[in-house]
Amino acid sequence: MTAFSLAGQTALVTGANTGIGQAIAVAMGHAGAHVICAGRRSCDDTAALIDKAETMTLDFADPMAASDVFADRRIDILVNNAGIIRREDSVNFTEADWDDVLDVNLKAVFFTCQAFAKAALPRGSGRIVNIASLLSFQGGIRVPSYTASKHGVAGLTKILANEWAANGINVNAIAPGYIATNNTEALRADPVRNQAILERIPAGRWGDPEDIAETTVFLAAPASKYVTGAVLNVDGGWLAR
Ligand code: NAP
Repeated sequence: MTAFSLAGQTALVTGANTGIGQAIAVAMGHAGAHVICAGRRSCDDTAALIDKAETMTLDFADPMAASDVFADRRIDILVNNAGIIRREDSVNFTEADWDDVLDVNLKAVFFTCQAFAKAALPRGSGRIVNIASLLSFQGGIRVPSYTASKHGVAGLTKILANEWAANGINVNAIAPGYIATNNTEALRADPVRNQAILERIPAGRWGDPEDIAETTVFLAAPASKYVTGAVLNVDGGWLAR
């Protein structure tokens, strides 16, 4: 077994029906994991692409939705990928657009990590990978709840890494750059925005969901056993510029 194998491990991926989450679930499967594909909608299409997979309904409109998921079975790897965004000038931003985004992107991530750790701490092993954003580092514009939530994900990743490292649980995050998914379809369809974004990416292309997925496998695998508390940019060089 190589240092990059997930054979014998069970991984739970949230938001696994589409985009980055789907690619992560498939890559975990290719690396040998049994994958629990969780979504608020059916993940059957994703599970069909994986040898050893099952599906689970998890809707983080209730941020405590995963409270009981880890209690009665062994899950070695947790990937918190589900996320939403709302766009509006900050001066007009509504409480609903604040609460909805913070609930899914931050509160649910914390309480899902907590539920995972209650089961994993006594075992003395586990991996958590949170999907953060460039807006864990930058401000963005017209997305105040998203930026606050993703800055929060970066901070949570570090505190949980500090608290749980001695018990064998590694907690890391990935900050994806501009990745071609449903989430960014409008940007890619706007020729002016698309051109401006491409000109600023040193790699000269949008990222693919697979770029994030392969890095997630690394952060779940034995190869990264001494990596914890990191927020790893996977952005074609965007933040280095
Ligand atoms: P996406 O295609 O819109 O996928 C988002 C996923 O989150 C979907 O599976 C979605 O389910 C799920 N989700 C939303 N609300 C949920 C809820 N209440 N309960 C459970 N699942 C929920 O976008 P994506 O680009 O793959 O995004 C995945 C993650 O990457 C997000 O955390 C996003 O912030 C982050 N990210 C993306 C980019 C990018 O450039 N694409 C950049 C930085 C960070 P439905 O299909 O049912 O809506």
